[in-house]
Amino acid sequence: MKGIAVSSGIAIAQVFKFERPVLTIIRRSSEPVVEIERLQEAIKISSEEIEGIKEKSAEKLSLEEQAIFDAHLALVNDPELYTQVVHKIEVEQINAEYAVEEVANIFIHMFESLEDEYMRARASDIKDVTYRVMAHLCGVRMADISLIDHEVILVAEELTPSDTAQLDKRYIKGFVTEQGGRTSHSAIMARSIEIPAVVGVKEAMNMIEHGEMIILDAIEGNVIIAPSDTEIQEYTKKSIQVEEEKKELVSLIEEETVTLDGVHIELSANIGNPKNMEAVIRNGADGVGLYRTEFLYMDASELPSEEEQYQAYKAVLESIPDKRVVIRTLDIGGDKKLPYLNIPEEMNPFLGHRAVRLCLDRTDIFRTQLRALLRASVHGRLAIMFPMIATLQELRDAKRLLNEEKESLLQEGYSISNTIEVGMMVEIPSAAVMADKFAKEVDFFSIGTNDLIQYAMAADRMSDTVAYLYQPYHPSVLHLIKLTVDGAHKAGIWCGMCGEMAGEWKAVPLLVGLGLDEFSVVASGILPIRKIIRSLNKKECEDIAARALACSSSEEALEVLGG
Ligand code: PEP
Ligand code: MG
Repeated sequence: MKGIAVSSGIAIAQVFKFERPVLTIIRRSSEPVVEIERLQEAIKISSEEIEGIKEKSAEKLSLEEQAIFDAHLALVNDPELYTQVVHKIEVEQINAEYAVEEVANIFIHMFESLEDEYMRARASDIKDVTYRVMAHLCGVRMADISLIDHEVILVAEELTPSDTAQLDKRYIKGFVTEQGGRTSHSAIMARSIEIPAVVGVKEAMNMIEHGEMIILDAIEGNVIIAPSDTEIQEYTKKSIQVEEEKKELVSLIEEETVTLDGVHIELSANIGNPKNMEAVIRNGADGVGLYRTEFLYMDASELPSEEEQYQAYKAVLESIPDKRVVIRTLDIGGDKKLPYLNIPEEMNPFLGHRAVRLCLDRTDIFRTQLRALLRASVHGRLAIMFPMIATLQELRDAKRLLNEEKESLLQEGYSISNTIEVGMMVEIPSAAVMADKFAKEVDFFSIGTNDLIQYAMAADRMSDTVAYLYQPYHPSVLHLIKLTVDGAHKAGIWCGMCGEMAGEWKAVPLLVGLGLDEFSVVASGILPIRKIIRSLNKKECEDIAARALACSSSEEALEVLGG
């Protein structure tokens, strides 16, 4: 089967099909003593399972993340819930699963209708926990990713970013999903935890059996079902080769990222979690070019406090104190949801109330984050970056709030670094076209091609059907990149790129030629890109860029880049 390779590597293992079964719960009359006993047993097993998940994920998760499981344990053993279910079973003489569902629904509706955000978020916890208990009562086996303790390749219709965050690299050798694209956030996370992945494999759930052997070729984007012995041998050899190439790159860890004609380029890493810093340092990055802070919000069951955020930002800054760390303010929306914020569904979430738009509306959330960032600034070389800026007014508003928080903190007696850089992502065509104007009001740009391409081509980055229009090398996109870089240089500021295009090997000569000052890529992409840059001549790259810009289609431009 064919799909899109989004996180490179090769895996050979048995399939684990991950699906959340739909429970069919019917009301039956039954003996209360029998049902109460079944209920107690289901609660006991569920409780043990949650305990197990908590222990297993302890080393990967922060204390706060682990606290989610404590909340779930408290819920599964909640006396109030239990008493009400038992009461229903006794009075109505009905089956336990039906009673649990009825009582759970009352609680879920009650919590969902509360004003307080924290309380509303409890509704999803109750859903999760009662689903587990009901699944046991219905005899339905729950597929829990974090419970997997043997080597498998996961096959699923879709994985959410938080599912992906839970994957344990020791056991999950790779994953295949029916949905998703190269820039979906689960693909980005797969690259950051370095798990081979192929997405967009249509019919994968129908065609692949649980437990069967497959080869996942996440270099070419192939899934080979029931491989022959020769295929297994061939791919085992290939995977050894891939490992050897990785070892060769290790010699570049301490080398400078410089072209043959002496042009230095910053090569930074994209991260989504302070824990990624280990890989960033291991791969010899020049800094962090994009810290996607939204994962801090998404992995929690309520808004992270100023203190929690401060600790996370401080940890990242302190881990590479003399190198630049670009921290992006909250970019929620699109495919990144925050269930506890209860943001209304929109027809076109990628064109809607996301990122800085939401922050300028919910200034309470924004101000808390800005305070945490400012306080953390004394622990390293901080650069703050605003996402999804479309107008100068948005940029000015965001900067005004930042300055107001700075003033308050100073008055409260905090120290704040006076060398913080303030920049913006250029990921909306309006900003790229007017880059020269924006450049006068920021210290740097970082081009977000994942969004810039989707907006330039009007092709949803998550859609398979219009994936043919998602063309990084379309000359229109290349011109937007050029406008951005030129606008930056005219104003004397630097311009980086943190979208996935920066990590595409064939794009490197083009981007160097366009004058990009910084590349920010997933940690595992640092050394291969460094190797390429060190083999390039800037003058020759400028020629390549000029030829690509003059093309009329992606196909022509790709030909200029060597296919
Ligand atoms: C981008 O749009 O290119 C980007 C880096 O941001 P995100 O992928 O988080 O939207
Ligand atoms: Mg973006």
